[in-house]
Amino acid sequence: MKPMYINGEWVSSSSNTTIDVYDPATEAVIDTVPDGNAEDAFRAIEAAREAFQEWRWVTALERAEMLQQAAGKLRDHFDEVVGLLTLEQGKAISENEEETEWVIGTLEYYAGLIRNSRGRLIPSAERSQLNFVIKEPYGIVACIVPFNYPLLLMIWKAAPALAAGNTVIIKPSDHTPLATLRLAEIVFDHFPPGVINVLTGRGERVGEALVEHPDVPVIAFTGSTAIGQRIAGLAARHVKHLHLELGGKDPFVIAPDADVESAAEAVAYAALINAGQVCTSTERIYVPQEKGGIFAGALVDFVQSIRLGPGSERTTDVGPMAAPAYRDKVARHVADALAKGAQVLTGGKVPEKFDRGWFYEPTVLVNVKHSMKIMREETFGPAMPIMTYRNFDEAIALANDTEYGLGACLRPKDARLAKRFFEEVQAGTVWINDPLTDNYAGPFGGMKMSGSARELGEDGLDSFLETKHVHWDFSDEIKDYWYPY
Ligand code: NAD
Repeated sequence: MKPMYINGEWVSSSSNTTIDVYDPATEAVIDTVPDGNAEDAFRAIEAAREAFQEWRWVTALERAEMLQQAAGKLRDHFDEVVGLLTLEQGKAISENEEETEWVIGTLEYYAGLIRNSRGRLIPSAERSQLNFVIKEPYGIVACIVPFNYPLLLMIWKAAPALAAGNTVIIKPSDHTPLATLRLAEIVFDHFPPGVINVLTGRGERVGEALVEHPDVPVIAFTGSTAIGQRIAGLAARHVKHLHLELGGKDPFVIAPDADVESAAEAVAYAALINAGQVCTSTERIYVPQEKGGIFAGALVDFVQSIRLGPGSERTTDVGPMAAPAYRDKVARHVADALAKGAQVLTGGKVPEKFDRGWFYEPTVLVNVKHSMKIMREETFGPAMPIMTYRNFDEAIALANDTEYGLGACLRPKDARLAKRFFEEVQAGTVWINDPLTDNYAGPFGGMKMSGSARELGEDGLDSFLETKHVHWDFSDEIKDYWYPY
C-alpha cells in the first residue's frame, strides 16, 4: 500500500480500508491507497492550518525558489513519473511526457510570476492619505482533481496556490492517486511539513469532508458539472471561494472554405487525444452540407489508421479508457444515437483484438441530431459525431446550442469567419486552426455550466489571492464629518 502524505508524514487511514488502483490496459491491480475518511481530512486540515501560520510570511522570493526547485527535481525523475502516470491513467506515453513537461513548466511559470508580482497604489481623497491594494493568501486551498490529467490539473491549482502563500490539501482521483503521491515524496519533500498534503480516498467521503469544513476557505475543483454543482451547494453554507472547472461539450466547426483533408486530421487529434477524456475534447463536429460526405470519408480513413494499444508502447496513438464506467458511458451514448437514427461509419464497439483493458474503438457517426445524448451530454470518450450545416450562421447557432461553454475549435481560411467565430461563440477558449493547445500565460476555464474560474496565467494566480484595500490617514485629527452632524 502507498500511504497518504499528511504533515510531512506517510500515514494510513483511520478507516483501515484501502482502494485498489488499476492499470487500464491490463485491468490488473497495481497498488492500493488508503480509503481516507473525514477524520483523515481533519488531520490534514489541522496540519495545513498550523503550517499556514509560518508559510504565509515566507517571502515570495523564497516561495518562488522552492517551486523552481520542485521543477528541477521533477526533471530529474522525469521518466519514472511518466511511467507511473502511464501505468495508472492509461493514455499514450508521449501524452504523459507532455503532461509532465507541462507540470515542470507550470511550476517555473508561477515561480516567475510571483517573483515579478506587483502591488497597486490607488488615488487618495486627501493629501494626508495613502490608499493601496494588497493581496493576501486565503489560508488552506483544497485541490480536488479528476482522473484525466492527474498531475497537470493538480499543479494548475497547487503551484499558484503555493506561490500565493496558501497551504494545500490535494485530493487526487481515486483512479489515479499514485503519481501525485510520488511527487509528494520526491518533488515536494523540501516544503515545510503541512504546506503540501495529499489525501487519498473517495470524493463523497474525504472530498466532502474538505468541502464542508469551515477552516478550508477555498475549494479548487476540476471535475464533472454534476459534482461541481454538489460542491457549490455544500460550500454555500460557509460562503467559500469556489474555483470550479467543469465539464464540456466542445464543438469543432469546419468552415466552408477549409481544406477537408487537414481538417479531418485536426479533428481526429482534438477528439481522440487521451482517448477523448479531455474536458476540451471535440465532442461535436459541424461540416458544411456540401462537404459532409467527403469530410466524413476523410475522417474515417484517417481514424482507421490510428493505432490503439497500451499507453506504455511507443507505437500506441490511443490508449484505453481509464475505467470501465467511462467506457460504458460512451457505449450508452452510441447506442442512444443509433436507436434515434444515427449511423456508425467506423468503430462503435469494444475492439476484438484485446482480451483485456478498457479499450473502445474510435467511432465516427453521421446522421446525428441535437436531440441525441451524444450531441447534448458530455461523452468523454473517443466518439466523433458529425452534423452538417447550411450556412455559417447556422454553424454558430449549433455551436452555441449547449449548456456548456468550455472550448470551441474552428478551421477557417477567411479571417472574417474567424473573427465572427471568436466573437460570437460562447466558450472560455477558442482555438483557430490549432486545436487544444494551451499556453502558460493563457487563462483556461469555462463559460455557462463549464465553470466559474480561470486557471493558468495571471488570472490563475489571482484566484488564490484575497484582495484587501488599505486606507491610511497620516493625520489623527478629529474629522469634521464625524458626529455630531
Ligand atoms: P468527477 O467529478 O467524478 O471527480 C473529480 C474529483 O472530485 C475526484 O477527485 C473525485 O474523487 C472528487 N469528488 C467526487 N465526488 C465528490 C464530492 N461529492 N465532493 C468532493 N469531491 C468529490 O470527475 P472525473 O470523472 O474524475 O473527471 C472527469 C470530469 O472532469 C469531466 O466532466 C471533465 O470534463 C471534467 N474536467 C474538467 C476540466 C476543466 O478544466 N474544465 C479539466 C479536466 C476534466
